Amino acid sequence: MGGFFGITSRQDCLLDVFFGVDYHSHLGTRVAGLASWDPEAGLQRKIHDISNAPFRTKFEHLLDTMRGTSAIGCISDQDPQPLQIRSNQGNYLICMTGVITNAEALIDQYLSFSGGHFASINGDRINQTELLSALINQKSDFAEGIRFAQKSIEGTASILILTDRGTLIAARDRLGRLPVEIGKREDGYAVAFESFAFHKLGFEDVCELGPGEVVEISPDGLTQLVPPGKKKKICSFLWSYYGYPTSTYEGVNVEEMRYRNGAIMADNDREAGRIVPLDYIGGVPDSGTPHAIGYANRSGVPFARAFIKYTPTWSRSFMPSNQKDRDKIAKMKQIAVKELIKDKNLLFVDDSIVRGTQLKETVEFLYESGAKSVHMRSACPPIMYACKYLNFSRSNSDLELIARRVILELEGEEGFQHIDEYSDGTTERGRKLRETICEKFHFDSLEFQSLEGVVKAIGINPCDLCTYCWNGKE
Ligand code: SF4
Repeated sequence: MGGFFGITSRQDCLLDVFFGVDYHSHLGTRVAGLASWDPEAGLQRKIHDISNAPFRTKFEHLLDTMRGTSAIGCISDQDPQPLQIRSNQGNYLICMTGVITNAEALIDQYLSFSGGHFASINGDRINQTELLSALINQKSDFAEGIRFAQKSIEGTASILILTDRGTLIAARDRLGRLPVEIGKREDGYAVAFESFAFHKLGFEDVCELGPGEVVEISPDGLTQLVPPGKKKKICSFLWSYYGYPTSTYEGVNVEEMRYRNGAIMADNDREAGRIVPLDYIGGVPDSGTPHAIGYANRSGVPFARAFIKYTPTWSRSFMPSNQKDRDKIAKMKQIAVKELIKDKNLLFVDDSIVRGTQLKETVEFLYESGAKSVHMRSACPPIMYACKYLNFSRSNSDLELIARRVILELEGEEGFQHIDEYSDGTTERGRKLRETICEKFHFDSLEFQSLEGVVKAIGINPCDLCTYCWNGKE
């Protein structure tokens, strides 16, 4: 994943862009970049590894040396960016969020006719932002180039460009899986993945780009270069999990959606007769918490934080590459409030259950702390398909998914013919899936939010939502 932010202004805006990019730090952990333009200094750029230190500490020293009346920056889980490109379209800086899944085919195709080359290579992997710019540069202007790139790319690419005239070019991915928001204040305009980033800096909402829409922005206004397409498939997980609670996409605030989602889950449990004696409802911190608040408010059972993340010294600055050590860190961060756990019946809501490894540790530690029973709820349906549209790092392949692994265990690959039944807790297969996960993880009960429930909680036209990772529908 990743996110970008930019401003074009009549005054120096580097400090604002520094904060705006920092507000996208929850979207990536690997690498970040900052680039600026002003009439005297031209284009400048810096990229730093942020895998062991947050964006702010890696970039704050630049505030003394860099300046610009236009600037962009990004947080990325993939390639170093923004990249500086010299082409027939001038000198420009470019960054993207998303992933190009047919990169190899596009690279072969490009090399076969162009006689060109790629310079930004990490191991044997070509920087996807460089590939994107190679596609854009095949046409005579940005509008045609971006249109061509979007048509060629499988996957998702939202794009932010800083030109050598100081304008910004913002392009939302072809099917609008990720948001691109535009804000305005007296001295200019801002572009962001997360709208709260520019609200905090005094910008007001102007619009959200439509799918595939491209605009060029100067401090004086916006010019549409490519109109929006009709088909939209915005990622539902933005609301369920990785969008920041203070953000609003398609007019729907993330935190409010999570409260509604929890309330619908409580209704579902009541209607299905899944009423168990409970002392407290809690969220698996942090992203399960708002769903749990919604569940508790609707059910009338008190919300309590029976375990709390110890965050002061555990920023993401220590993030080992192997899963075992990451799980260990997740465990070390969780501190029990024993008084709220001992002899209590607890229900926890997690944002989703992907591999389940961390949940297993969590439940063990709740029992070690004296819990009488631990019931688990997932705020979304069982994840059956790894995301193929974004670089969504929570699952790399279908077989990493706990739901898939259990199906394989229960009836082999034949079981994959019955994914819909396994997703549905009212069917025999659905019940078996839930029972098996309960046994493995020692939950006293387990249920998932239904697909209808999560779609209702988001509340926009279901045709505009991507729900592929739950139902496999493109
Ligand atoms: S597959 Fe899932 S994570 Fe990927 S874009 Fe669709 S809803 Fe989002």
